[in-house]
Amino acid sequence: MKLLRDAIRTIPDYPKPGIMFRDISTLLGEPRAFRRAVDELVQPFAGQRISKVAGIEARGFILGGAVAHQLSAGFVPIRKKGKLPHRCVRMAYDLEYGTDEMEIHVDALRPGDEVILVDDLIATGGTAEAAVKLLRKLDAKVVAACFVIDLPDLGGAKRIEALGVPVRSLVDFAGH
Ligand code: AMP
Repeated sequence: MKLLRDAIRTIPDYPKPGIMFRDISTLLGEPRAFRRAVDELVQPFAGQRISKVAGIEARGFILGGAVAHQLSAGFVPIRKKGKLPHRCVRMAYDLEYGTDEMEIHVDALRPGDEVILVDDLIATGGTAEAAVKLLRKLDAKVVAACFVIDLPDLGGAKRIEALGVPVRSLVDFAGH
């Protein structure tokens, strides 16, 4: 999708040498590209019964909020540990060095809620896998995981599909 691909800025060696940072702030700032990205993320689910959209901090909030609005669904934040005020369930996930934890409010979902997960980008899939596990801890049905960008060489989409969750992405970039 050329409109979207051209709207994404690549910053080499950020945040450290060897990483090609795919910056969606330029896409979000361009009205046609932002609208198109949200429309494309929503399209497979229009007319389906999606009760909640879960977004991963922080760029997943921007996209997920817009997707939730368009689907007339609720929005549920998944955040780094210690940020949500009410009682939470927590899940550890791997970073390049060490681990971190993410949380969701314990009452954010009801059993049987049909949820789609939204983030800007999937790389190794570690973040999205932890998010899927959190949603399942609350007995929600994870209908799909949706990203603007996939880095297919890092295998994240396959990792999420192996959990039984279909993956939708709009643009892919080879390499890291
Ligand atoms: P992962 O857990 O490896 O799939 O990493 C996904 C998370 O890290 C997402 O929340 C992305 O926003 C961020 N991320 C990982 N790699 C990149 C990259 N090359 N450019 C921009 N964001 C990235």
